[in-house]
Amino acid sequence: MAASSVSCGTCGTVLAEMPGDVSATCPACGSRKRHYSLGVGEEIEVHERLATKTKDQARSGKNKVRAEFVTGDDLHRKTGRWNKLERVIDRANNRYREKIVDPKTGAVLRSVDEPLDQHQGRGSAKKKPGVGGSVRSRRRTGR
Ligand SMILES: [Zn+2]
Repeated sequence: MAASSVSCGTCGTVLAEMPGDVSATCPACGSRKRHYSLGVGEEIEVHERLATKTKDQARSGKNKVRAEFVTGDDLHRKTGRWNKLERVIDRANNRYREKIVDPKTGAVLRSVDEPLDQHQGRGSAKKKPGVGGSVRSRRRTGR
């Protein structure tokens, strides 16, 4: 049976999320760390991902978020393979960095370091005409 489950990496609460989609905090403890168990044949693969944000409480709304960090395992949906991901979205310094490494070979599959406002990758960033709009595309859109 190919069971898969997503649970909180801190308190162990089972969560109804897709692996790789750390879209919300844990309802029980507020953690953004995730633990993935995937049944592959007779083996269980275990993966983890941690998403954190730094906020500036002096700002309002979504402008509070100054940087986002994601580290952990990334499921490449086309191939079904897990890679190691490091992503930094640094709004304060207008920087987007992402590195994806094949954990088996150590090969760098993707390495991005570019101004955030020029970043167009993965459907997670949409170019917006003009500045100062209050609507910022959420990471779920465009998947
Ligand atoms: Zn939790």
